Amino acid sequence: MTCTEANRLIGPWVDDELDVRSVVELEAHVARCPTCGREKNELLALRETARERLPRFDPPPGLEERLLRSVRQTAAARRRPARRWLREVALMAAAASIAVAATSSLRRSADPGGEIVDAHLRSLQAGHLTDVASSDQHTVKPWFQGKIDFGVPVRDFVAEGFPLVGGRLDMVGGRPVAALVYGRRQHLINVFVGPATDRDEPLRTVSSRGYRVSSWAQGGLEYRLVTDVAVSEADQLVALLRAL
Ligand SMILES: [Zn+2]
Repeated sequence: MTCTEANRLIGPWVDDELDVRSVVELEAHVARCPTCGREKNELLALRETARERLPRFDPPPGLEERLLRSVRQTAAARRRPARRWLREVALMAAAASIAVAATSSLRRSADPGGEIVDAHLRSLQAGHLTDVASSDQHTVKPWFQGKIDFGVPVRDFVAEGFPLVGGRLDMVGGRPVAALVYGRRQHLINVFVGPATDRDEPLRTVSSRGYRVSSWAQGGLEYRLVTDVAVSEADQLVALLRAL
């Protein structure tokens, strides 16, 4: 990874918006490049200052994303360093009396499924839907072995109308998770699987920005399914997974 590439990724990294592979490469680069290390530290410090000093309120849904996207696009077009676009965000946010870092905890309190919906949208937008593209459960399941320290149950439900599209590594809440991708007609469904922090949890559903997030824990694993297919169809896949 070059310094230019690293510089482009440091902002998204600080915002927990990078895929696992990029995080690993970036961490390796920053560990041996003092310039990029400084860049990262300054960005973190700036973010903390913004969090502490700026007035806060819960922004309307989507505002933060729109703000960050527009500034990033501008920054990318002008090839400005990450630090400068963050400063710009901070200034814009201050001017608008908006907390720039609507932190993940803040967002969670206002929008319980928001983090999962973010991860879902990221997978659709970033051209990083699958690391292993296969409808064969015997290909996808072993692919995860050695990459994460928990077993992921992988099953193709093509007969039930949910073909397996593939799998990838992802980060949710700062923790690596396995993402299984299923198709349903022209829609995609992400199923995030990670180690459960507690005992089995009953099924819960929340809606966020037009997406439905179903969460439960069983067998030592936490499942979060996110999709915009019809509720009855989402429930059908949830039932199939819970019966595994
Ligand atoms: Zn560097």
